Amino acid sequence: MSSIIQLLPDHVANQIAAGEVVQRPASVVKELLENSVDAGSTDIKLIVKDAGKTLIQVIDNGKGMNVTDSRLCFERHATSKIRHAEDLFALATKGFRGEALASIAAIAHVEMKTKQEQEELGTHIVIEGSKFVSQDVAVLPKGTSFSVKNLFFNIPARRNFLKSDTVEFRHIVDEFERVALAHPNISFVLYHNGSEMFNLPMANQRQRIVGIFGGRTNEKLVPVNESTEIVQIQGFAVKPEFAKKSRGEQFFFVNNRFIKSGYLHHAVMAAYEGLLKDGCQPGYFIYLEVPPNTIDINIHPTKTEIKFDDEHALYAILRSSVKHSLGQFNVAPVLDFER
Ligand code: ADP
Ligand code: MG
Repeated sequence: MSSIIQLLPDHVANQIAAGEVVQRPASVVKELLENSVDAGSTDIKLIVKDAGKTLIQVIDNGKGMNVTDSRLCFERHATSKIRHAEDLFALATKGFRGEALASIAAIAHVEMKTKQEQEELGTHIVIEGSKFVSQDVAVLPKGTSFSVKNLFFNIPARRNFLKSDTVEFRHIVDEFERVALAHPNISFVLYHNGSEMFNLPMANQRQRIVGIFGGRTNEKLVPVNESTEIVQIQGFAVKPEFAKKSRGEQFFFVNNRFIKSGYLHHAVMAAYEGLLKDGCQPGYFIYLEVPPNTIDINIHPTKTEIKFDDEHALYAILRSSVKHSLGQFNVAPVLDFER
């Protein structure tokens, strides 16, 4: 019998990978924003139309790409961020999988303009459904602009599965906020259908939080600080009297990357024990710095889950430092008759 196994053509492999990386317009937003951060940008603009269904554009002032890299960046497993497997344990960048742009280009109409500082002219590339449509020179300042149009144009099932503009835009704002909170030293703006939704100048952590969630947030924040050999903790916990029935604003960042962790959430909740009214949830903005070789980020393509070497120690340190901060700010416990 002749053999029946074949290697999939690139555009098919890319489309399959895209299914994992790009669930909705917000996934594209996350990947493009993170690439702009990795490119060393100090100013990032996000322009969205119809909750990303019509247009997602990210314009940055980062280091840009030369002509060769402008084409290579759309290949699968093409990355400038790691070279060896060991590099995975010393990551200083958001990206490393080299599959976001290949995935996005497989399922949308993508236009990219990019220029490096020392170049006279930049490069302009159009790629649709993994096919290069055109390549030109472009006049632009240093940096990169990515436009993603007609997302899922060739996967009708996915396109039909998208939720209302309100819901999809909420997801986009969530991703935008996470990246903006992780990088207060970068300025960000977000336009939706021509209106400015956010305008966040360079700031410190507290100013960035207030910039996103409003002036009244400032008085609610209690600083959390802790420095040990295995973790440095910085950030803010919201005073218990401002806890809400809904989950509200709860953020963990590990080495400047937003992550989700039920376990660490539990540690914070334990620190609030006895301070919250029934069913209320505190807000928190906790930034953890750990040695990169003590975590594994490569668990899931979206990289929002992390494996820590010593979860238990982290739990204990986080719990006690949040508890200490809440205590220091003389937070009165909720008396029984107030419940
Ligand atoms: P990864 O981020 O995992 O490396 P991507 O597919 O997201 O993979 O990007 C591929 C490569 O394209 C990056 O490694 C980077 O070299 C380049 N690149 C992507 N976006 C930008 C950008 N905004 N500015 C400069 N270079 C970029
Ligand atoms: Mg990337």
